[in-house]
Amino acid sequence: MTTELLFRTDSYATSAVARVVSVGERGIELDRTLFYPMGGGQAGDTGALVRPNGERIAIADTRKGEQADSVLHVPAPGMPQPDPGEIVTLEIDWPRRYALMRLHTALHVMSCVVVAPVTGGNIAPEKARLDFDIDMSLLDAAKIERETNAIIARGIETEIVWITDSELDARPELVKTMSVQPPRGGGRVRLLRIPGIDLQPCGGTHVRNIAEIGPIRVLKIRSEGRRNRRVEIALAG
Ligand SMILES: [Zn+2]
Repeated sequence: MTTELLFRTDSYATSAVARVVSVGERGIELDRTLFYPMGGGQAGDTGALVRPNGERIAIADTRKGEQADSVLHVPAPGMPQPDPGEIVTLEIDWPRRYALMRLHTALHVMSCVVVAPVTGGNIAPEKARLDFDIDMSLLDAAKIERETNAIIARGIETEIVWITDSELDARPELVKTMSVQPPRGGGRVRLLRIPGIDLQPCGGTHVRNIAEIGPIRVLKIRSEGRRNRRVEIALAG
């Protein structure tokens, strides 16, 4: 069962109505969802499903299901189970998701300040990181912070663009993150473009204008192995 992924077209939607398709041990499947399932380094969304009788089913995590575009909403322990066919109102924890969107977009900007292959990454609500295949001596926290914040301050609008699989295969230089496979599906690949700054395949959720990120600070830089020099950031404001 595939789920209509509402966050792909509108990452700012905070409420929607959906039908319960199945209820299993791993989670609840809906016909459509606002909840981003953990992937591409970005944490899964949390929030609640509200039943017609007003009962709230707290969602502690969101994961990908077995099939492409299937999404499992993982209830917190002890929550009531909805019935298949039931109509529920979806509410995501918006402050948490918005922090994820700001940090995620910040990593796109930072990946253009540190010019090196990206070997890993992670986005949590309170901090995010990228790992680079680069010499430690080339990573200067103050410089990364200053240059990333200077780009953010330019207030550029972001865009989602789609290209075909074959267009991506013809432009392998677009794939910066070696550890994350581009989000392919139905012969198309989704890209995030920050005009003049960055263009890369990404299935995650981003802010509309990079000014929304606000200033960031570099928390630490450390070596996690020869090809994983880790730069960790947080929102400063
Ligand atoms: Zn992204």
